[in-house]
Amino acid sequence: MISLVDGYLGRIMLDCQAHLTGAVADYIPELAAVDPGGFGLSMCVHDGHVYSHGDSAAAFTIQSISKPLTYALALGRRGFATIDAAIGVEPSGEAFNEISVDQRRRPKNPMINAGAILAASMLLPQEPTVSSDTVDAAFADVVEFYSACAGRRLGLDERVYASESATGARNRAIAYMLVSFGALQTDPDAAIDLYFRQCSLQVTTDDLAVIGCTIANGGVNPRTGRRVLDQAVAQRVLSVMTTCGMYDGAGDWVTRVGLPAKSGVGGGILAILPGQLGIGVYSPLLDEHGNSVRGVDTCRHLSTDLGLHMFNVA
Ligand code: GLU
Repeated sequence: MISLVDGYLGRIMLDCQAHLTGAVADYIPELAAVDPGGFGLSMCVHDGHVYSHGDSAAAFTIQSISKPLTYALALGRRGFATIDAAIGVEPSGEAFNEISVDQRRRPKNPMINAGAILAASMLLPQEPTVSSDTVDAAFADVVEFYSACAGRRLGLDERVYASESATGARNRAIAYMLVSFGALQTDPDAAIDLYFRQCSLQVTTDDLAVIGCTIANGGVNPRTGRRVLDQAVAQRVLSVMTTCGMYDGAGDWVTRVGLPAKSGVGGGILAILPGQLGIGVYSPLLDEHGNSVRGVDTCRHLSTDLGLHMFNVA
């Protein structure tokens, strides 16, 4: 028997299905070639149950949705004092790949590339030269952490990773700029390699929903019962996702949807209702900010219909 929730989620997908505007990311051929019609929606609730709809089992690359996770891992490994000295928490209002830092020459936040690359660099030994074995070990740590949040083993999309590496001039420029400011204190090529790998991990909307619910739960995966991040780290990640998670469309998102969230150019959106649930949406057609058009639309519907806005005073 189809539950009320399933019926409702299915209806929302039908309502948003026709919204086929936007364009797939085309900065690498692998993303340009995805099926523009792909559409998946998953919701993981407090007891760990996942409601799955549409292409909820389709794999896509996590891309920038990796940023809050690596930030969480870096906070856990290096502590708040070290990370806060290096990366700010102010929204930048600029594009994700803007070459920007604050007056202290820190990346403005960990959700733009400068901050995300620096967060990844913090997982490496802080030495000028880092061996590829060491990058492999740091990446293994990243995979282990993301997988613990998702409750299943995640894998790398080798083709996307190869393409990101072959074309990432701007991200390399950002890493070298951070070296010149004395902000990035490890091998910039190793940091970039780690960042490209994290962006190329494959997820489904079911994974995003479980990851979201893990953060919503203060760091305990609702399906495995395992604590994977500290409560204070979960709270920090939710705060930064709220103010900086949706590229330069963050203000519009918070106003209309009102949930901590992070999007990626692969077409995914992770949205979280603290203490309650995680939502994963996938649709690769993106708006001018780089956010999934149908993903944003779906989250707006969910938020309005279910009263999910975190400042709901009704
Ligand atoms: N790999 C992409 C980059 O850093 C991620 C972009 C995104 O999802 O915003 O350029």
